[in-house]
Amino acid sequence: MAREWVRVIAVRVSEQATYLGELDGAIGDGDHGGNLDRGFAAAVGKLDRTTDSAREVLTATGGALISAVGGASGPLYGTYFRKLARALPEHGGASAAELGAALQVGVDGVRALGGAAEGDKTMVDALVPAAAAFAETATDGLPAAAVAAAEAARRGADATVPLRARKGRASYLGERSEGHLDPGAASSALVLAALAEVVGG
Ligand code: ADP
Ligand code: MG
Repeated sequence: MAREWVRVIAVRVSEQATYLGELDGAIGDGDHGGNLDRGFAAAVGKLDRTTDSAREVLTATGGALISAVGGASGPLYGTYFRKLARALPEHGGASAAELGAALQVGVDGVRALGGAAEGDKTMVDALVPAAAAFAETATDGLPAAAVAAAEAARRGADATVPLRARKGRASYLGERSEGHLDPGAASSALVLAALAEVVGG
């Protein structure tokens, strides 16, 4: 399932790469779609060399993102996957509750690395509500929790439109960053939608 999550992210990111690039073109340098397309393609390339351990698969994914992506989003997403992976059981898969807790650890890693809080108009605005929604609905099972997380990420991303960016390249624009969807929040919504797609919600 972890491998399938990474593969589906790579497909969706590739399909949406132009769109993500356009979002980044409006308030950044336009490379977000290309960055993630390259990063997740590199991650998929590592999957065959992993064992059936979700922790190992997602650790390799994080490493590939850090190595392959030059932009800010590479280390940030790389940290997300590596930290959440390390919070999973050492062998095999994870329960819904374990994955919910791991998603929280992942986003804590992103906040620690990038210093962004909710409302700063970054990927954090999608990843935080997603982790919270997942953890809250984990008792309903993996599919329900993943769907709730995907919906929360989507709402969190959409809510970045009116915000003024306080972190990353978009923050250089000051008030001119207002009125645009944050590209990293949009890609985070894709990442969580891919999880919902894979766990069959
Ligand atoms: P770059 O900004 O280096 O060109 P990308 O375009 O790939 O990198 O990624 C931009 C996205 O990264 C932003 O839309 C934002 O969501 C996210 N981002 C940038 N800086 C931070 C940060 N300090 N904390 C969290 N997310 C950030
Ligand atoms: Mg960029």
